[in-house]
Amino acid sequence: MPGLNRVLQGVLHYRKTVRSDLVEQFHRVRDNPNPTAVFFTCMDSRMLPARITQSQVGDMFVVRNSGNMIPHARNYGMSGFEVSVTTEPAALELAVKRGKINHVIVCGHSDCKAINTLYNLHQCPKNFDPESPMDHWLRRHGYSSIQKLERRLKSEPGLELQFTAENALLLDFKAKIDPEDKFNIEDKLSQINTLQQLVHIASHGFLHEFLENHQVFLHAMWFDIYTGDMYMFSKQQKQFLMIDEETATTLNQEVDDEIAAFEH
Ligand SMILES: [Zn+2]
Repeated sequence: MPGLNRVLQGVLHYRKTVRSDLVEQFHRVRDNPNPTAVFFTCMDSRMLPARITQSQVGDMFVVRNSGNMIPHARNYGMSGFEVSVTTEPAALELAVKRGKINHVIVCGHSDCKAINTLYNLHQCPKNFDPESPMDHWLRRHGYSSIQKLERRLKSEPGLELQFTAENALLLDFKAKIDPEDKFNIEDKLSQINTLQQLVHIASHGFLHEFLENHQVFLHAMWFDIYTGDMYMFSKQQKQFLMIDEETATTLNQEVDDEIAAFEH
């Protein structure tokens, strides 16, 4: 099979090139791994988190799925939050409680096939296949994103959408989605969905003390596959900013400001 052979050839190439360097890094971080972030992103084959962020061995946890969704705590049925049978909240708990990471990043991207499907299911509900796990997954965890998209499309581009957790003290911000109106509808939905997942994350009971004490911060990033630019959401400026030398300082300062405000 040509597809498999490409994977096998890749492993052979890896053995000849980066393997020894990686093993050295594995040894170095074995006794003292110090990951600082958990990175939720889409499983899209074009998304390469380690390369885009230049992260190294031991730097961050990565969780990937279709459409970078994190189930909301209310989706666990009768017993309510903290009862999880899905991967994402469990991974979040592992990263925060055991890994002691400080930053949770959700990263969406342009031309996301999952988001395109979510939008299509909204436009043509008859396309929903009750037998399709993917359709259920997207509709259940993308429902609130679709509602916000509707609000955005019915209004001026500069509309400020409200993103608030059940406990507004934990997460509460406004967002102007694509105020210059340069992205298509699906990409707008993808940006909204990336922010909406922060609300879902904040719904989990095990996270509340970490958020309250400013030990964990929630961030949204968005990768434009056509230009290779990475964006990060600025709560102060209420929009995604393209990450460059200038905005990186501003974005970092925002978190420092938040910590300083909490400590005073
Ligand atoms: Zn995607």
